[in-house]
Amino acid sequence: VSTWSAVAAGPPDPILGVTEAFKADKDPRKINLGVGAYRDGNGKPYVLESVKKAEEILTASNFDKEYLPITGLAEFNKRAALLAYGADSAPLKDGAISVTQSISGTGALRIGGAFLARHYPHSKAIYLPVPSWGNHTPIFRDSGLEVRGYRYFDKKTVGLDFEGLKADLRAAPEQSIVLLHACAHNPTGIDPTQAQWAEISDIVKERKLFPFFDMAYQGFASGDTARDAFAVRHFVSQGHQIALAQSFAKNMGLYGERVGAFSLVTADPAEKARVDSQLKIVIRPLYSNPPVHGALLANAILGDKALYAQWEGEVKGMADRIISMREKLYGLLTNDLKTPGEWGHIKSQIGMFSFTGLNSDQTKVLAEKAHVYMTADGRISMAGLNANNIVHFAESVDAAVK
Ligand code: PLP
Repeated sequence: VSTWSAVAAGPPDPILGVTEAFKADKDPRKINLGVGAYRDGNGKPYVLESVKKAEEILTASNFDKEYLPITGLAEFNKRAALLAYGADSAPLKDGAISVTQSISGTGALRIGGAFLARHYPHSKAIYLPVPSWGNHTPIFRDSGLEVRGYRYFDKKTVGLDFEGLKADLRAAPEQSIVLLHACAHNPTGIDPTQAQWAEISDIVKERKLFPFFDMAYQGFASGDTARDAFAVRHFVSQGHQIALAQSFAKNMGLYGERVGAFSLVTADPAEKARVDSQLKIVIRPLYSNPPVHGALLANAILGDKALYAQWEGEVKGMADRIISMREKLYGLLTNDLKTPGEWGHIKSQIGMFSFTGLNSDQTKVLAEKAHVYMTADGRISMAGLNANNIVHFAESVDAAVK
């Protein structure tokens, strides 16, 4: 009998499974709105011009393939923290932020989960918004934290359940950990307003909660990296010692390069040095040290004035294309097709995704009849839409809800 005969088949990944079904479909009209990766106006993956230039600079510099230190490329870490926290950040200026390079956003969340499980001196429960990115629960559970939820999405208004959110954070035991999506909430596309963020910050302070920000889309929500960092910077300005996971997958289009950073705000440089030493002890047995190539690329862009400006323009270009697809889709459904229902949320939601309100039966019909693929919760990647396929998509949605 084989050693592995008792291993039961696990369920397919709910997001990556959509891509598999899409690939198997041979119809030319097929559309994949499942995966959260940017596509250009022709539906093609997009390598940023600033990234191509950074590649050229790297090649010309004859860089080697030596190991990085355990916490990665020091210059990159500095510049990633500057991008997130801003030049005015007091703990950044004081040298009190501990930063490590990570294997993209996922790796940053996992380092944070493992560090908190080992060193956070209070409750090991982490509260996630309901719903949240599907990988949050397994990441934090496998890190050794206890996963709980707080209300976030209001089905009736297809908007933020702000009263529910506040009530649940107030009811959480003091010193619990709370995960916050910094901007472009995935999967709903619904963010708190700046005034609501200020209220959340006050509740987090009152209840002595520990805020862990996941910022996977800086620049992607509004097209402006500073505006999208509002929540992170506001919390830090209010004296919160936050944890932060950053990803450069979306905003630099470096998906497969796996570039990210994890940081913790500490009290002072001496405490930071102790935290640094313990981050190394968490990371070393996980993967020894992070991959070098993508970090060199991101570092070249963040460290060069002209490339940085070009990159900011490209992030804005991606965000603007997505916003224009939202307006187009809203117009098609509301004005042209007079599709039953209220579709204002398509325009007001932000970032890569829209939570359409379509139910799982409707998403099934869309896949089978119209060759349109999305996750069963009705989430679509707006970046998958373009001038060539948006009419087919809108007509298919119209048929599915009538
Ligand atoms: N966090 C959120 C909310 C995400 O949507 C994603 C990617 O979809 C990630 C983190 C991590 O992505 P990556 O590991 O590719 O940086």
